[in-house]
Amino acid sequence: MSACGCDSVKGHLTPYREALENLLNAVVPERQTETVALADALDRVLAVPLISTVDVPPADNSAMDGYAVNSADVSYSGEIRLPVSQRIPAGEVGSPLQRGSAARIFTGAPIPENADVVIMQEHVHVDDGAIVFDGPYAPNTNVRFAAEDIAKGAQILEAGTRLRAQELGVAASIGYSRLEVFKRVKAGVFFTGDELIEPGQALGPGQIYDSNRYTIVGLLKSLGCEIIDLGIVGDTFDATCQALEEVSAKADLVITSGGVSVGEEDYIRAAVEALGTLDMWRVKIKPGKPLAFGQVNGTPFLGLPGNPAAVFVTFCLFVSPYIKCMQGIRNPVATSIPVKADFKWTAGKRREFVRARLTQDADGQTVAQIYHHQGSGVLASTSWSDGLIMIPEGVSVEPGERVDYTAFSSLLA
Ligand code: AMP
Ligand code: MG
Repeated sequence: MSACGCDSVKGHLTPYREALENLLNAVVPERQTETVALADALDRVLAVPLISTVDVPPADNSAMDGYAVNSADVSYSGEIRLPVSQRIPAGEVGSPLQRGSAARIFTGAPIPENADVVIMQEHVHVDDGAIVFDGPYAPNTNVRFAAEDIAKGAQILEAGTRLRAQELGVAASIGYSRLEVFKRVKAGVFFTGDELIEPGQALGPGQIYDSNRYTIVGLLKSLGCEIIDLGIVGDTFDATCQALEEVSAKADLVITSGGVSVGEEDYIRAAVEALGTLDMWRVKIKPGKPLAFGQVNGTPFLGLPGNPAAVFVTFCLFVSPYIKCMQGIRNPVATSIPVKADFKWTAGKRREFVRARLTQDADGQTVAQIYHHQGSGVLASTSWSDGLIMIPEGVSVEPGERVDYTAFSSLLA
């Protein structure tokens, strides 16, 4: 990691992987935990492994509405007739099956002792208290076995798992009503720029709406963070220092947008250096070259660029893995997949993160298309797309070639 400013003075650009490694090496993970109700655990991160204390399902049960029989009674081909000797709805336990008879049974009901086959009701006709159907049937047909989903004593989820709806369902299926999760990361944010106003007001000359606030706060919420939002902060040294002081005292992590360039109206750098320490990297990526990282009053600080598309991309590439590491997520870096390019790309000097989406070509093959304008200020590109295609520096792409695609859902979950 270089001292502040040196990189930019020399014009050296830090490669993407190195910048990410620098950043993730500095993370201090959240270790404090709390216990929350299952219904409140969505998007939180599990702090301890989840072990099942029960079998799911608890007993062998029927996969169909039909008739439970013994396989030895139905092992021959041709028409078979068996009297119906009992009725077992879901939620009840039948008595042992009398050999040579069938038990009326419903989906999810426990298979009675002596039975090991369920014949679908669509495959029988009922005649005078008996069922008539064609054999043969093999043992275990239409039977769901005890513990085939989850066995008692098995570890179902690892510590460091983000709890999605399906994890909450799994936890419920083994009877957990509360889960131990890591405490939420408190992210403090503000957005620099004298030109910024809130949506809902009329634009004056030279003004633009603050979009970064809604992008960044939305992304932080979807990562399960608690947010301290100071809103727009003007382009002065004093206002920037005051905002940094206030937010760093309350938050676990400070994130800002704008003001990290070297212009006369960019105060982030000077303010962070006055109150803490700063490492500035010019990262060899496009969009999003300037990235500031440091600490203010001991609280980690991440300064994003001002350009809205660059904000979104650098959040995906750096802020999201940083926060996932803080949250104790096991695999904080997203995985990419190879896809076929449905576009042409001319090699650039920096690694490009191109806003793209997957679609199907005329042959039904999955291909990646890219937004027509990849400017760092073109925020519409982020909404049009579903992910990023990474094109290394110096690489051109012809239609039909393979490229690396990473879905936003993987970058941001
Ligand atoms: P800066 O890095 O502060 O020079 O900002 C770079 C560009 O991003 C300028 O065109 C700014 O107007 C724009 N910008 C900065 N902050 C925001 C924001 N919060 N919302 C929308 N655009 C912004
Ligand atoms: Mg600015």
